Amino acid sequence: MAWFKKTRKPIAPVAEKPSRVPEGLWVKCPSCAQIIYNKDLAANLSVCPKCAHHFRLTAAERLRILFDDEWVEHDRDLESTDPLHFTDLKPYKARLKAGFNATGLKDGVIVATGRIDGIETVVAAQEYAFIGGSMGVVVGEKITRAIERAIDKRCPVVIVCCSGGARMMEGALSLMQMAKISGALARLDRARLPYIAVLTDPTTGGVTASFAMLGDLNLAEPKAQIGFAGPRVIEQTIRQKLPEGFQRSEFLIEKGMLDLVIDRREMKAVIAKALRFMGAQGISPASVEPAATSDPEIATEPATQS
Ligand SMILES: [Zn+2]
Repeated sequence: MAWFKKTRKPIAPVAEKPSRVPEGLWVKCPSCAQIIYNKDLAANLSVCPKCAHHFRLTAAERLRILFDDEWVEHDRDLESTDPLHFTDLKPYKARLKAGFNATGLKDGVIVATGRIDGIETVVAAQEYAFIGGSMGVVVGEKITRAIERAIDKRCPVVIVCCSGGARMMEGALSLMQMAKISGALARLDRARLPYIAVLTDPTTGGVTASFAMLGDLNLAEPKAQIGFAGPRVIEQTIRQKLPEGFQRSEFLIEKGMLDLVIDRREMKAVIAKALRFMGAQGISPASVEPAATSDPEIATEPATQS
């Protein structure tokens, strides 16, 4: 008889057992697959404790990491008027609304004044969850006003870049923001005030082509994707395979496009030290460790360039 006859079973997907772990309590690192307790991850500034993978942060988290304490937000209520009445798969107005629902912001950047290690600083942090952190009229206007505010108050500017580039739903108007912000940065430079660009994953398109690369110091987080056109577009255009690690921070610093690649956990200390080196005055220098002030030589910073 048919001892070895296979019984045909329909191929059906194995139903996954429902997890008993509450949603959002544990996070799996996409780089090393380590399971990390959510609170541990937050305490470690969203850097994987095992492999130092940098998880993406929201704009508000960026400000929380950089500022000593409370900050004052500016131009919170600016919103896009949809000047082109643009519709692609969805109307642009619906995308703006979805962005607001996802982030609670009216556009893709938070601008605030606060203190970084005692130094009063204007910080703009881009929010990737708002239409890919894209730069439209509102982002351009808010960043420009931030720079002008810094010139009035004579304080430095830090911009944390995280963007897919210019916002196509605002067409040429979004491209004009590149020139507008660059012009404001030129005035900041003429006023002899420092500007530090912090490039995070991803910084691409019109943002890279304007303010992300204009810092007196251009700092980047490890393994951040930084470029103008995406790697796939470049591959298709030049019909060549791109090298390993192309458009990542470590690749770019080797080519001289960046000044430092810094672990997020060191970022605030390095920014404060650099600002002091460039002449920014802290409000309470007593709060600074003596070791940090006695050695203003930024070049000797033992930066974690991984
Ligand atoms: Zn990891």
